[in-house]
Amino acid sequence: MKQEIIDTYELVVGLEVHAQLSTKTKAFSPDANAYGEDPNTNISVITLAHPGTLPKSNGKALEYSIKMGLACGCEITRYNIYDRKNYFYPDLPKGFQITQDKAPICVGGFFDVENNEGKASRIRLNRIHMEEDAGKSIHLEGAAYTMVDLNRAGVPLIEIVTEPDIRYAEEAIQVMEQVRRLVRYLEVSDGNMEEGSLRCDANVSVRKIGDTELGRKVEVKNMNSMRNVQKAIEHERIRQIKMLEAGEEIISETRTFNPDTGKTYSMRTKEELNDYRYFPEPDLPPIIVSDEMLARISSEMPPLPKALFEKFTKEYKLPAYDAGVLTDQKEVALYFEEICSHTKNFKAASNWLMTTIKSYLNDSGKEITDFELEAGKIAQLIALVDDAKVSNTTATGTLFKALISEPDKEPEELAKSLNLIQESNDGFIVPIIDEVLARFPDKVAAYKKGKKNLIGLFMGEVMKAGKGKVDPKKANELIRKQLEKA
Ligand code: ADP
Ligand code: MG
Repeated sequence: MKQEIIDTYELVVGLEVHAQLSTKTKAFSPDANAYGEDPNTNISVITLAHPGTLPKSNGKALEYSIKMGLACGCEITRYNIYDRKNYFYPDLPKGFQITQDKAPICVGGFFDVENNEGKASRIRLNRIHMEEDAGKSIHLEGAAYTMVDLNRAGVPLIEIVTEPDIRYAEEAIQVMEQVRRLVRYLEVSDGNMEEGSLRCDANVSVRKIGDTELGRKVEVKNMNSMRNVQKAIEHERIRQIKMLEAGEEIISETRTFNPDTGKTYSMRTKEELNDYRYFPEPDLPPIIVSDEMLARISSEMPPLPKALFEKFTKEYKLPAYDAGVLTDQKEVALYFEEICSHTKNFKAASNWLMTTIKSYLNDSGKEITDFELEAGKIAQLIALVDDAKVSNTTATGTLFKALISEPDKEPEELAKSLNLIQESNDGFIVPIIDEVLARFPDKVAAYKKGKKNLIGLFMGEVMKAGKGKVDPKKANELIRKQLEKA
């Protein structure tokens, strides 16, 4: 299809993001909430919905949901009720799901995103509500039966529902990334998409640019990676535009995305959908969020990526790129803050963390939490470079490696014992320069005739001959002086 035609349409997306809460136990039973255990091991009579069993709500799940709401700028609902959503699934033993319909725990809130062209927009949240997960049906290829694992049944979830404010697939990805970052900062979910802790349904429609009414939407389910969310939205956008251009009507339906083909396929149309017959869950009392509880949770909020980003760019004057990388993971941001409590050279601290430390961690398969060196040592390394006692190359190379194998040593002591301290006194450097110049008489002559860029060659040779111990600034100055004399 012609790009000119595609360009007359606007994409409209609303996301429904599910995050499994990392509570120790399930939402309404004392069963362990654990991933990857043997099938059907965490299934007490409550999970199995035996007659006469009653749910009891998990206070941590409530607390985690409130934390997420506060982090997203939502209003917290004080008088909460749970509702039953009735539908039959083989992996949902009760025959209904406990969720929140009319009174979700969090209302409103937003995520700020930027599209590919750098245009900022605000994606409003409709709500965040609490509910429980279903079990897992496992369809083995070729088997005439389906297996059911109920370990996941009853695991607490939050569902984050955006308004249909998303206009680009890229914005949808940013919302997902922000959700993942936040749940990890808050430590309310591991946010792991591959393991299904974070899942996304995308509601997608298109309309002619300028239209004020929304087009009819399609819901795409089963996306377990950011890439798939992006691809599914892109595919759906073009599919719908083609249909509309051909004069066909979009039907409200649920579709599934197949990552192998990159296409979406119809699962069920809205007409076939259940009437959920929502009604208040009679087995659970209303949950009241008191002033005290809200105050306590607010006071326990960790620093959030947005505030840290502001601080790093405004107060530390770091480029937005650095601030983005440093705040992506809370532990990295906190480590960075640690370094900055010992140095004022924030840019150097950022460079150390983003390059030297990061590649060391990558190479050794470690997380920042496993990193051997205290942040104070990094600040000391920065000071050694700033004071021209050690070259930057030596500090980030030889000295850094040596320090990692002896993390208790003082960096300066270690540099001394390894003979890495830079020499900036003339008595050390001048003989090295003279030796180098003597080796290149023709180059010296060429320099004298005006080939001033030969200074680079002399610098390189002097640094090499000085075995990393020569202070480059001083060397540069002295080389020029010696050349004048030569
Ligand atoms: P439903 O009643 O079909 O579940 P909701 O109004 O509850 O629909 O919205 C569910 C999700 O679909 C929300 O994320 C919302 O932003 C999104 N949505 C609603 N209408 C549209 C539309 N026309 N195009 C794209 N997304 C939409
Ligand atoms: Mg809905």
